[in-house]
Amino acid sequence: MTNLKIKEILDTPSLLGQEIEVKGWIRTRRGNKNVQFIALNDGSTIMNLQIVVDLESFSEEELKQFTTGASMWAKGILVESMGKGQSCELQAKEIGLFGAADAENYPLQKKGHTMEFLREKAHLRPRTNTFGAILRVRSHLAFAIHKFFNERGFVYLNTPLITASDCEGAGAMFQVTTLDMENPPRTEDGKIDYSKDFFGKPASLTVSGQLEGELGATALGAIYTFGPTFRAENSNTPRHLSEFWMIEPEVSFLDIEGNMDLAEDFLKYCISYALENDRDDIEWLSQMYDKELIDRLNFILNNKFVRLTYTEGIEILEKSGHKFEFPVFWGADLQSEHERFLVEEYFKKPVILTGYPKEIKAFYMKQNDDGKTVRAMDVLFPKIGEIIGGSEREENLEKLSQRIEELGIPMKDMWWYLDTRRYGTVPHSGFGLGFERLVLFVTGMTNIRDVIPFPRTPGNAEF
Ligand code: ATP
Ligand code: MN
Repeated sequence: MTNLKIKEILDTPSLLGQEIEVKGWIRTRRGNKNVQFIALNDGSTIMNLQIVVDLESFSEEELKQFTTGASMWAKGILVESMGKGQSCELQAKEIGLFGAADAENYPLQKKGHTMEFLREKAHLRPRTNTFGAILRVRSHLAFAIHKFFNERGFVYLNTPLITASDCEGAGAMFQVTTLDMENPPRTEDGKIDYSKDFFGKPASLTVSGQLEGELGATALGAIYTFGPTFRAENSNTPRHLSEFWMIEPEVSFLDIEGNMDLAEDFLKYCISYALENDRDDIEWLSQMYDKELIDRLNFILNNKFVRLTYTEGIEILEKSGHKFEFPVFWGADLQSEHERFLVEEYFKKPVILTGYPKEIKAFYMKQNDDGKTVRAMDVLFPKIGEIIGGSEREENLEKLSQRIEELGIPMKDMWWYLDTRRYGTVPHSGFGLGFERLVLFVTGMTNIRDVIPFPRTPGNAEF
């Protein structure tokens, strides 16, 4: 007697004729007075195993609670299937129920719910085919990311989630405090006295692990982080979450060109890993939601990313004659509509834009000799827009300090960061990939809320 996952069963032809046991959740039950067919899913694959229940051995009364959503086990012989849609099925000898799922009330009783409906049932939606597939793709991608960096000798560095520096610069932050919000301690001039707070000063959830990543890279050579990040912006778009996962490699002795090569290799590696190792789920998602998905994934693998400067990009947009919602001019922050125009309409290839105006980019980016632009790079993808943002970092202490001063960033908070430039500074580069944007791209979904198990967005943190 073996207790196997459905994925293994379907992948192992030698199990035919053997007695096995399976456990899972009922997707559907149908049939007639002589025989009933249960489609069982255990989460290991998008495929169901068909359990054939002969009504000579079981009564209809016994089967009453074997409804959609109920959990059960079955023992029997695995046989070749005569029916369409499956290669084998289990001829049940014994079956048992773990837990019923009252057919009147079970929210996923019927098929074909909208994504909006399922978002309200986020606690149960992993039970659907769609979310099973998405969450397995997500898991494979996470593994691919670790594999990619591990194969290249990068050290996996865990950077803090709670930070006391408010100069990471990437966005609005969530405060972390243990002070009594109703009645906080006050200083003599009436301000909140943060010296009495848990960390002795104001603290927040991190918006990026980059600055600490640089501390790691300038010691270990090449590091990457992979962890949650938090942004308190009130941006209700299909591409923004308040809590998302970010991957941030940071590499010493790497310039912007090498950084672009790394980003391109990395994205191609992850996509090709998912296609090779989770083909069934991607094919299923493609069939159900997006017929062009697999072509689009192959298109990334088969094309070299176009590299051009921000200035060239702006010229193309200005000359395009295309009507954009947001105005295009040198110095403007590019919106998703501009990014997608370059990728989808103009080049029809993934694009890496470099040399952005320093005013619209972070303080730590390496300044070009023109005095106007910095060595930033954004990787732009079809359907997504920006998927990666990165740069070569300013390694010159003087230039960096000057920029920090210009921007009025409180220098006293930055002493530890500046020590990387003070002692043994090196040229270095890195980038941040928003994990959910990658999962969005690989699954073909259109809303980022549907590619993370429990999305956090403004006004939404129920489960
Ligand atoms: P955007 O312009 O799309 O808001 P950003 O420039 O603020 O992004 P960065 O600070 O460069 O983002 O962060 C690096 C990467 O993290 C982005 O390229 C993107 O893939 C991802 N990312 C940024 N903000 C979010 C968010 N709110 N939700 C999900 N992913 C995000
Ligand atoms: Mn960015």
